[in-house]
Amino acid sequence: MRFTRRTFLKSGAILTGGMFFQGNKILSALQDQASGFRTVRGDFGIYNEYGGTIGWFANKDAVIVVDSQFPETAKHFMDGLKKKVDRKIDLLLNTHHHRDHTSGNIYLKDYSSIIAAHENSKALQQKFYGNDPLKPQAYPTVTFADEWTLYLGKEKVWAKHFCPAHTGGDAIIHFQNTNVVHMGDIVFNKVYPYIDLPGGASLYQWIEFIEKTVPLFDKDTIYIFGHSQTQEMCIGKADDVYAMRDYLTALINFVSKEIKAGKTKEQIALASEIPGAKNILDKKDGMIKMNLEKTYDYLTQK
Ligand SMILES: [Zn+2]
Repeated sequence: MRFTRRTFLKSGAILTGGMFFQGNKILSALQDQASGFRTVRGDFGIYNEYGGTIGWFANKDAVIVVDSQFPETAKHFMDGLKKKVDRKIDLLLNTHHHRDHTSGNIYLKDYSSIIAAHENSKALQQKFYGNDPLKPQAYPTVTFADEWTLYLGKEKVWAKHFCPAHTGGDAIIHFQNTNVVHMGDIVFNKVYPYIDLPGGASLYQWIEFIEKTVPLFDKDTIYIFGHSQTQEMCIGKADDVYAMRDYLTALINFVSKEIKAGKTKEQIALASEIPGAKNILDKKDGMIKMNLEKTYDYLTQK
């Protein structure tokens, strides 16, 4: 290509304009990240402060929020969301009852038309958190048993519960047009999971839940996880979801083998690694021990 002055000016202008645009985009992405907000795809993004990852979908026709962390972080989230869109939350969903996913309901309820969750999520929230006057709760106003679909603006939201897994009331939330699935705590990405037997956790069914989930989606689907090794890793693909299944399988296999070999719960809980469990980080001290003990309890419960 021969450069004339004219082509040079033209490409120079495109270059500068491009850089300016890119620079603005990078700046706003950095500002977003500093505030805990991250756009994932289209109008869908996430918010991380502490507690389970919040998912949000926001445009002029629909505002949908998945999970609510804690009252104080829900306020920070809401302050940021208001800057993005001038509209109430049409739908707030809880993926399950755990306090780091539902405590912020109390703050978001005044901004939300509907709060929805699986019926067991509501019942477990009432059972475990309903009697503390210092921590008032806001419960789902709509519940579902197996699945629930809502069309909002141009988006179709589908909530699905297959069986008990991380708790007795987990639901995954699919934003069909954006093709993003919020997995709640079905996936702890490369960290040891919280296993809540009184809250209805079931390890074999957790595996079943994952195996029923992934084939419903495609290569393009983006998965959002409640907890992860790093903040970046709360966004992932099908392989990350299957890695969670493989971890649970390794955990069950190891503890079963140790029980068969005649070891006690205390002896089993001393293990410092689980054969076949790769790249899992003990983010909080003692999580591996808790996983081993809970798996022992699960496998030996009558
Ligand atoms: Zn949880």
